[in-house]
Amino acid sequence: MNSERIEFDAVVVGAGLAGAAAAMVMARGGLNVALVERGQKPGGKNYFGGAIYTHAIAELVPDFMDRRPPFERPVTEAGFWFLARDGLTRMTVQGGELNADPADAYITLRANFDAWWAQQAQEAGALLIPKTTVVDFLRKQTGEVVGVVTDRPQGEIHAPVVIICEGVNNLLAQKLGLIDHDLEPATLALAFKQVISLPMETINARFGLQDEHHGLAASVLGDVSLGLPGMGFVYTNKGSISIGLGMMLDQLAEYRLRPYDILQRYLDHPAIAPLVQGGQLLEYGGHLIPEGGYHAMPKLYTDGAMIAGDAAAMVNALHWEGTNMAIIAGKLAAETALEAHSRGDFTARVMSRYEDRLGEGFILKDLKQYRGFSRFLETHPQFMDVYPNFLNDSLGQFFSAYGKPKKELFNGMLGALTNRRSLIRAAGDIVSMARSVMGW
Ligand SMILES: Cc1cc2nc3c(=O)[nH]c(=O)nc-3n(C[C@H](O)[C@H](O)[C@H](O)COP(=O)(O)OP(=O)(O)OC[C@H]3O[C@@H](n4cnc5c(N)ncnc54)[C@H](O)[C@@H]3O)c2cc1C
Repeated sequence: MNSERIEFDAVVVGAGLAGAAAAMVMARGGLNVALVERGQKPGGKNYFGGAIYTHAIAELVPDFMDRRPPFERPVTEAGFWFLARDGLTRMTVQGGELNADPADAYITLRANFDAWWAQQAQEAGALLIPKTTVVDFLRKQTGEVVGVVTDRPQGEIHAPVVIICEGVNNLLAQKLGLIDHDLEPATLALAFKQVISLPMETINARFGLQDEHHGLAASVLGDVSLGLPGMGFVYTNKGSISIGLGMMLDQLAEYRLRPYDILQRYLDHPAIAPLVQGGQLLEYGGHLIPEGGYHAMPKLYTDGAMIAGDAAAMVNALHWEGTNMAIIAGKLAAETALEAHSRGDFTARVMSRYEDRLGEGFILKDLKQYRGFSRFLETHPQFMDVYPNFLNDSLGQFFSAYGKPKKELFNGMLGALTNRRSLIRAAGDIVSMARSVMGW
């Protein structure tokens, strides 16, 4: 029997961003690592907006640009679009900080990027085991995790440390008692999007981009989500546009909204339709995002195991940060696994160093600071309705007040707000918003 026993120094569950990062760091540290992925290949099951941030990639692969990552475009213009019922106010920034080379963020298609990312882990020595799902853990009688059980015949893999990077699921976290309940709809956004193909020159002309070395990442607020908590996005790929939105699952259920209808309504909006007109639908899909924030996080470690990335609810929804948290958390979990190996101690006492490491950087600091934000938009729907429409109306008045006494203009602009929300309430909203993002 013993000859059939499959043994590694470490097992990583999931070859997404967190998992491949963890495998890469441990393999470089000399460990024999199994990277288990349920998809046909890394990225096959992944879906996102979106942009990937180079600070995280560079921490693991400093010469990443020489290794030709499959980026679409650098983000050279970024910001918010406020969608009113019949208009759009754009607040984007370009130039300055966004001219960095390499850029701070690159628009990416995950099927391509994840394959490249996992390749870096394989080149470091990790063994990728695709088409294999981890379904349970091997545990000592004392409860210490000592490997995983996969869906393959005789699919047990023994290892003294396991890093769980299963994405938005919490099935494995539940099995270890790191969290004691199923995912809750109020903490999950359902993000749905289309990838629409258009000639590169058409994209450049429609979005005001000089060439394929310039790209736009916009977060869209307001009418995109029918005035309910949610956020849309537009990203320009080389020869396509990624466009979609995320809304909280409980709200979709409560208002009996169908994602397809909401996305179609967004695409038909008079300010959006001309941008996608004549495009060909390449891809349509949805994916959950764990947006519950700090309060929704599981316990991050136990004897012989740690958890990283979406599986640990490491997402900052306002900033679309999830990929970088996943990569850095995977790296920190891996460093902790290396420490455990060097000490020969895989108990929770050593695994707890993972949480210490997370606390030293931006991940836990930001998640703590934004802990109130996940419910903020739900309790302040005016940010999705009143203010985008006010902005559009008041700026519209400003830029059409030619030949009018300007006192009338400013009274009109003020009225565009006070007809919707009293000044006292508006001031209160600003204070609440500041409190929720500053963590006061
Ligand atoms: C529409 C959308 C837009 C987004 N936009 C952005 C953005 O612009 N920027 C940003 O930073 N973030 C964005 N995010 C969030 C980002 O995609 C995630 O935070 C990130 O992918 C998390 O990485 P991860 O490695 O934790 O999980 P994932 O990337 O989901 O990887 C998990 C992997 O584990 C595998 N797996 C799962 N269970 C098992 C199992 N039992 N056994 C074996 N393998 C398993 C899966 O197949 C998958 O490959 C977006 C998300 C969505 C849905």
